[in-house]
Amino acid sequence: MKKWKLTGLIISTFLLVFVIVTVFRTLTIQSKQPAPQPTQAVINEEAAVSRLSQAITYKTISYQDRSKFDFTQFDQFIAFLEENYPLVHQHLNLEKINDYSLVYRWKGTDAAKKPIGLTSHYDVVPVLTGTETNWEQDPFSGAVTDGKIWGRGTLDDKIGVIGIMEAAEQLLKDGFVPDRDIYLMFGFDEEVGGDEGANIVAQILKDRGIQFEFVLDEGGAIVENMVPGVSQPVGVVGISEKGSATAELTIEGSGGHSSQPKDHTNIGRIAAAIAKLETTQFKGDLRGPGEDLFEFVAPEMSFGMKYVFANKFIFESIIEKILLKEPASAALIRTTIAPTIFQAGEQYNALPEKASAIINLRLMPGDSLEEVKTFIEDTIDDQNIKVTLTGSEATKVSSVDGWEFKAIQQAARNVYNRSVIAPYLMFAGSDAKHYDAVSENTYRFLPVQITSEDLNRMHGTNEHISIKNYLNAIKFYMEVMKEV
Ligand SMILES: [Zn+2]
Repeated sequence: MKKWKLTGLIISTFLLVFVIVTVFRTLTIQSKQPAPQPTQAVINEEAAVSRLSQAITYKTISYQDRSKFDFTQFDQFIAFLEENYPLVHQHLNLEKINDYSLVYRWKGTDAAKKPIGLTSHYDVVPVLTGTETNWEQDPFSGAVTDGKIWGRGTLDDKIGVIGIMEAAEQLLKDGFVPDRDIYLMFGFDEEVGGDEGANIVAQILKDRGIQFEFVLDEGGAIVENMVPGVSQPVGVVGISEKGSATAELTIEGSGGHSSQPKDHTNIGRIAAAIAKLETTQFKGDLRGPGEDLFEFVAPEMSFGMKYVFANKFIFESIIEKILLKEPASAALIRTTIAPTIFQAGEQYNALPEKASAIINLRLMPGDSLEEVKTFIEDTIDDQNIKVTLTGSEATKVSSVDGWEFKAIQQAARNVYNRSVIAPYLMFAGSDAKHYDAVSENTYRFLPVQITSEDLNRMHGTNEHISIKNYLNAIKFYMEVMKEV
């Protein structure tokens, strides 16, 4: 009886200490959001709206097949910029790299300070054939109705180009002089990889020995109900891009007549290999940008969620299990496996001599191509299947502790004072990866507050932006230029 009492006392003391420690940790977790200093920027709204509207009318469409680019549209767009942003063209030095990338250098007063770069792209994706009539407004009309501006590029990414140009023009009008150099860099082929655009710009700047403190590109936006337990909208700034790789699994061997099949055919073996990969999966691990995201949003969460994240050292495996349940959150914490092409067989009564499958993988920062290939080979464990892997690893992970990230966070909070601004991992590609070569940090953020439906419209039908968002984007870029 006595012994039981003692055990009970030990257990209840332990529980009490546990509760005190974990609740204390929850209550003392510090917000990582800077206090907003509401923007004082004044903009001539009507003129700004009319300029974005006009910018949309140029069909600066990029195609995988580069011979399809209509460069007269690109020339006209550049002429439009020259005509509409006179102060920028008077005070900044413009260099056209590879004819169509635009690099403006705004000289600062302090040559000892490293420059920063603001980048976006003025090419847009085509409108899918057959969907033209689904648009409420013509995709290249730049129509302005009901407080919205319509068309290709209103979100991706003429908003970036025009937002930055408007901000610079307005600040020049106000007599602003930056203390460090600011580069405005606009690519013309981001939607098809940026190889001729941002890639060449970065190479040339690198040859000249230019190193940026940071480069800011398009990327995550501000979205409501994005993170469970956070009632405010959350704006996410990409601090790294996942890598993208293609694995090809191939098996070759005897075919034969379908009347006498072997127990295991080529199709069966490739199918089994894929099934093994899908059941095994890469291990989920809350680290890097995914971990950073939760460190920034946890202090803003409701008590229950905050309790879990404040005591991550206890609950980590539970958190990971929950995140792995949904594809979007699973992709945040592991390298993903997506079988996209399967090829085998030509005739219903002949066993194919060859079968192959293509798998698209998105790599976590830190997972090398070599490691991924080894993982695939070990998992499928079939000597007869040849595995080749090509692609790129994730970009480097930018800092969230330095003044650079804080400057972007502050600028965003000055305009969107209710929003929580946090780092995250981008799944899609952008021009920012090219600037890794010339910058300590690359950040990816589109300064607009949108819904998940808007995100679908980016490369889809009815792309548009509210005037309010557009004006906020201009203000954000003005704040960034002032913050740095
Ligand atoms: Zn884009």
